[in-house]
Amino acid sequence: MASNEELQTDPTALTLYKDDIEFKKEIPKDLNIDCSICLAVILDSPSQASCCGQHFCGPCIGKVNACPQCRAVGDKFKVFKDTDFERRVGSLEVYCLMNWDSDDSCDWSGELRHLQRHLDDSCPYVEVPCPNHGCNKSGLLRCDLKEHVKKYCPMRPYKCRHCDFRDTHKFVTEIHYDICPLFPVCCPLNCSKGKTFPRNEIEDHIKRDCPLQPVECTYSWLGCEEKPARRDLNRHCSKQHKYILSDVCKELCHESQKMADGLNANETHLEHYKTEQGRVDEKVSQLEKKVTLLEQQLKTNEKSHNERTRHLEQAVTEMNRELQQKIRALDRERANLQSSCNNVSYSVK
Ligand SMILES: [Zn+2]
Ligand SMILES: [Zn+2]
Ligand SMILES: [Zn+2]
Ligand SMILES: [Zn+2]
Ligand SMILES: [Zn+2]
Ligand SMILES: [Zn+2]
Ligand SMILES: [Zn+2]
Repeated sequence: MASNEELQTDPTALTLYKDDIEFKKEIPKDLNIDCSICLAVILDSPSQASCCGQHFCGPCIGKVNACPQCRAVGDKFKVFKDTDFERRVGSLEVYCLMNWDSDDSCDWSGELRHLQRHLDDSCPYVEVPCPNHGCNKSGLLRCDLKEHVKKYCPMRPYKCRHCDFRDTHKFVTEIHYDICPLFPVCCPLNCSKGKTFPRNEIEDHIKRDCPLQPVECTYSWLGCEEKPARRDLNRHCSKQHKYILSDVCKELCHESQKMADGLNANETHLEHYKTEQGRVDEKVSQLEKKVTLLEQQLKTNEKSHNERTRHLEQAVTEMNRELQQKIRALDRERANLQSSCNNVSYSVK
């Protein structure tokens, strides 16, 4: 009676009503399988009342003090577990609750006591929750679960088809695809129908290649402010600026004439300066000659001056010597005179 044990202890056990179950054979007349308290089939610890012999679910009859059938109380109302009744009810042959007599339904049949386990574990037509976190898919049948989890569940693990990013299918397709750098997108200017570019190349495409992108005119530096599409640029230039080159040539000729005029004027100035320069150079060389001459004169002068000085010095030296000789002669004369004087005075005395 293992299955009964399971039914008793399983809190998620189905409450089965006789009218919902399709029995393979008619239920024996003497077997009343309905509990008159909860109205379900008596599968949970079937018990019998001693008063009237009526059967009830164990938990149902355990809550009352009088027999719900015959109103007996006290000693007359005793309850016993009935394992024979349990065996007879549990072994009734039934079809699965999910049998609708069609190909698209469960063809299981077996003893009533195995029905719960069949529904819990294996019936393909029972609704089951999706095991993927965050998936709230309702009405999912067990037979569809595998395919749902693998192919359709929005919360199934999923790798971006364009890069290596991984998350749930929902996140990748609803959020990541809006920012994935490799996601294929069309040119926002719709230049090539159906052609796509990886998102991270679109900017380059517009900047460098897109034939519909407005670009600056080749002659913008000459004042054209129009922005033709890149593919129309040549046509724009050859049409709008047919004469622009000859205009530019004229302008350039004019400019170069002006420059040549300026150059000529400069040359005249230069000529003038050259003449002036010649005159200045001549004057400088004249002056240089004069200076050289003066220098030579100065040297000659210096030489004769030195010569004269030497002569003068020699004369002075000569005169000096003569003077010394004269002084010495005079000194001698004086001395002679002195002694003569002394002699005179001596003789006078
Ligand atoms: Zn009951
Ligand atoms: Zn009773
Ligand atoms: Zn089934
Ligand atoms: Zn799911
Ligand atoms: Zn990606
Ligand atoms: Zn484009
Ligand atoms: Zn232009």
